[in-house]
Amino acid sequence: MKYPIREIFSSVQGEGLLVGSPCTFIRLAGCNVGCSFCDTPDALTTNGAMRLFVPDILFAIPEHTNHIVITGGEPTLQDLRPLTEELNKKGYFTQLETSGFNSLQGATFSHVTWSPKVAVNYEASPDVVSAAREIKLVIDQPVEPSLVDYIYHLLGLTDAPILLMPEGKMGETKFIPVVMEYLDIFARFPTRVRFGTRLHTILGVR
Ligand code: SF4
Repeated sequence: MKYPIREIFSSVQGEGLLVGSPCTFIRLAGCNVGCSFCDTPDALTTNGAMRLFVPDILFAIPEHTNHIVITGGEPTLQDLRPLTEELNKKGYFTQLETSGFNSLQGATFSHVTWSPKVAVNYEASPDVVSAAREIKLVIDQPVEPSLVDYIYHLLGLTDAPILLMPEGKMGETKFIPVVMEYLDIFARFPTRVRFGTRLHTILGVR
């Protein structure tokens, strides 16, 4: 099968538990979520995307890379099994970044980053919830009781750390105080509810 690919590029992981890890991003095109704060609008549709077979994708990965981040768009709109089977076979550390809205369809990863989205009422496929090694939540509103309740719900749902990331494509600081308020509310869970950075915006890299 051919995958709609928006771009393949090397950088460092800027977000989540694996922040700072050198990696290559495979950004798939297409998304069925529709967040108001989307920071990858060019990946929302498959219009104009490259259509690549798995060997073409493997060929585009630089030799020095070991950590592959499969991101989007919403990558789980595609059947990721053929791609991840090859990546896993070759020994890559594979990370998926997903809203969790769609099933993984049997694809397996070294690390799943689940970012529940308010645009779909935080709906998530059970296989994503059980595979998640971390949860990223973007904070783009003042503290909301419904989100406090949802974070408590997540704490009971999985053991994965919850990283609260202030919205800000270019490193804006407006929502940092809101994240600090959430950290106060969840101070009883210091290793579970944490501040989520965006290292790439600090470094000025992609
Ligand atoms: S899930 Fe990701 S790609 Fe899709 S709209 Fe939300 S932020 Fe954008």
